[in-house]
Amino acid sequence: MKLSSLLDRFAEPETLKMAKLGRELRAKGIDVIDLSLGEPDFDTPQHIKDAAVKAIADNWSHYTPVAGFPDLRQAVCDKLKRDNNLDYKPEQIVTSTGAKQSLANAILALVDDGDEVIIPTPYWVTYSELVKIARGKVVEAHTTLESGFKVTPAQLESFITGKTKLVMFSSPCNPSGAVYSKEELSALADVFRKYPDVYIISDEIYEYINFVGKHESIAQFEDLKDRIILINGLSKGFAMTGWRLGYTASSVPVAKAMEKLQGQFTSGTCSITQKAAVVALTADLKPSMEMAEEFTRRRAKVLELVKEIPGIKCGEPEGAFYIFPDVSAYYGKSDGENTISNSADFSMYLLNTAHVSSVMGDAFGEPKCVRFSFANSMPNIEKAWARIKDALAKLK
Ligand code: PMP
Repeated sequence: MKLSSLLDRFAEPETLKMAKLGRELRAKGIDVIDLSLGEPDFDTPQHIKDAAVKAIADNWSHYTPVAGFPDLRQAVCDKLKRDNNLDYKPEQIVTSTGAKQSLANAILALVDDGDEVIIPTPYWVTYSELVKIARGKVVEAHTTLESGFKVTPAQLESFITGKTKLVMFSSPCNPSGAVYSKEELSALADVFRKYPDVYIISDEIYEYINFVGKHESIAQFEDLKDRIILINGLSKGFAMTGWRLGYTASSVPVAKAMEKLQGQFTSGTCSITQKAAVVALTADLKPSMEMAEEFTRRRAKVLELVKEIPGIKCGEPEGAFYIFPDVSAYYGKSDGENTISNSADFSMYLLNTAHVSSVMGDAFGEPKCVRFSFANSMPNIEKAWARIKDALAKLK
């Protein structure tokens, strides 16, 4: 069979691959603890579920406008004003089947053959692959554990060329947990001011899971706002990964371009989800804040457990629900049967020996590290890290 060459240009998400491997082991009766996946382990808050049930009863069962129902686009604007003090009009909002689709919309709307896209490492697995689908060129700007996995203004500027179309990053960052402060964003904004043809994708999907204080968006710099595509959604902050609701806030021409693309790919997202999303976005955020508090407790526990393991260098995540430690001290070691040469070997060793799934750092553009989620229950976290400690102690 001859399939399209497009399929050779990009890889399957490593996060989903690891989850699949974990499921396969579980099907054989093995007790696998999943620290690979990026989703809250909580139920969607009751008032949002009630809104969905009502939407079904009220027969919201037809095709939806591509960019979303007017009340949902308005609710997104209200949320951006309430939480971020950002002024957007409904015509600047495009809702989608998830932040992933919003990212795809934005990249396909902006990136042409050969355009350079700067992505600070480590980055979410999908970023680089979407750029490759659009035939863009991925330019990795390497950041380090020592620098808090944040790109500095000078470093960012050193990668900008006449071909740079876009810079994309997430804050809070998946996988590193880095959160850019207002001052750090302001310093990056100074660089962007010098390059008026460069667009910025700001992925803020982990906004509510922030351990260091107030979330700051780069879109607050009014003179840059037209070049920013702000991405957010309901998956992480409201425990709604399966509902599929993401959104963008951008200039009107970019919003129209994304709407055109989405009109051919998927049309508007699920009508029931949209109606529930209006409630999620405008109601009291208490349930989201309670989830964030539980993540704070788990974060403290994980950091305490990781400290007990020799050879793992771990920074403190400022947001999201992952740790992304440097495990490269184990490269070259063996338990007599398995030799660890890279982050993929490390991840596979833990899956097969400790029955704990994680995601190799190479998938995020950082080969020294491995990502472990703490979106799992406290007992599972404790059990998983005890097993990891035992498994790693066998490597000599
Ligand atoms: N951006 C980042 C940084 C993510 O981690 C994820 C989900 N893992 C997404 C976007 C996609 O989220 P959604 O479920 O809304 O498609």
